[in-house]
Amino acid sequence: MKLKRFYAKDFRNIEEVDITFHEGVNLLFGSNAQGKTNAIEGIYLFARGKSFRKAKESELIRFGCEGFRAEITFETSLGEETLSYAVYGSERKRMKNGYKIDRISDMIGSFRAVLFTPDHLGLVKDGPEERRAFLDVAICQCKPYYLSAYTNYKRALEQRNCLLRMMGKGMPVDINEVYAWSRSLAEYAAPIYLERRDYIQRLEKHARVTMREISDEKESLTLHYKSDIDYDGDELQEIKKAYYDLFVSDIPREAQNMGTLFGIGRDDMEILINGRRARAFASQGQQRSVVLALKLAEGEACLELSGEYPVFLFDDVLSELDERRRAYLLSKRKDRQIVITSCEKKEIADFSESLICVKEGSFTPQGEGL
Ligand code: ATP
Ligand code: MG
Repeated sequence: MKLKRFYAKDFRNIEEVDITFHEGVNLLFGSNAQGKTNAIEGIYLFARGKSFRKAKESELIRFGCEGFRAEITFETSLGEETLSYAVYGSERKRMKNGYKIDRISDMIGSFRAVLFTPDHLGLVKDGPEERRAFLDVAICQCKPYYLSAYTNYKRALEQRNCLLRMMGKGMPVDINEVYAWSRSLAEYAAPIYLERRDYIQRLEKHARVTMREISDEKESLTLHYKSDIDYDGDELQEIKKAYYDLFVSDIPREAQNMGTLFGIGRDDMEILINGRRARAFASQGQQRSVVLALKLAEGEACLELSGEYPVFLFDDVLSELDERRRAYLLSKRKDRQIVITSCEKKEIADFSESLICVKEGSFTPQGEGL
């Protein structure tokens, strides 16, 4: 998959841009606060369906303007595709190849990208929530149905929690309703469990290679899926049963807690280096290696699942990596397209096919093949 063009109007500090990308490495360089991350945010909007900076839609509109419009054109093995996203006042319009789409889930999965920002460098030491979010965002792009399973799960969870709260407060509740919602919850949890487990196995396979290569064969990476159920098989019915048994195992305690105590909301991906828990023991350098390995593995997993490499968006991460890891990241590119942002032009320019200078929200190409 190759990003060909990004157009934006009144998006963040960008008045209007129309950037064309090379199918190799594209470097967006410029001083601080010029609009580099804004461009990455605009492009990734189409992979994630919303801003990766946890911004509200209204915050994406250029100060003093009525709305924004963003559009990307990208090439897949099936041909060229266009996605656009516009917000004006209370109206929002998303289009795919010229047709209006109503739901975000109809957009996610079309344009696939791996985003790597300095925020991800905390992934090893962060709480399980961050690692679950990493998995969910990555899986959603390759398995569009995952998002609807996840949304259904959350809805069922809310209903179940509402009943448990009522029970906790001593209000009358029909216990059969709690059983019914436990059944729904188990129904939605099972495919999520299977996808997460499968995805972690894929990630591990690829991330282990990177980890070994950047550590001169010294560091061995292991990823474990930690979940509330213990089942190795692939039988969906068995997994549903295991979750259902769990959900009905201690309803009185859950009522006391006024909420569900089990389920996929407690999952984690445990990271081990040479058999030791990275969250407790990894050094700064090792943490960076793990995240780098995970991000490259995310691309490989996407290739396996969708048949094409995603577009790699590296926002300001090169300055966070030492020379060796930086060279590794840039030299392992094969036929992958990369869009990198950096304040520095010098060292990265040698690896780049396209240089774009970013200044006060304008983007000026510096010529190709430099
Ligand atoms: P750095 O190298 O520091 O990461 P950057 O080039 O990535 O810088 P951006 O994060 O893209 O910078 O932000 C550029 C500018 O955009 C900031 O000065 C910010 O105040 C401005 N900005 C953010 N949102 C809006 C908006 N809605 N309207 C106008 N300007 C905005
Ligand atoms: Mg930035």
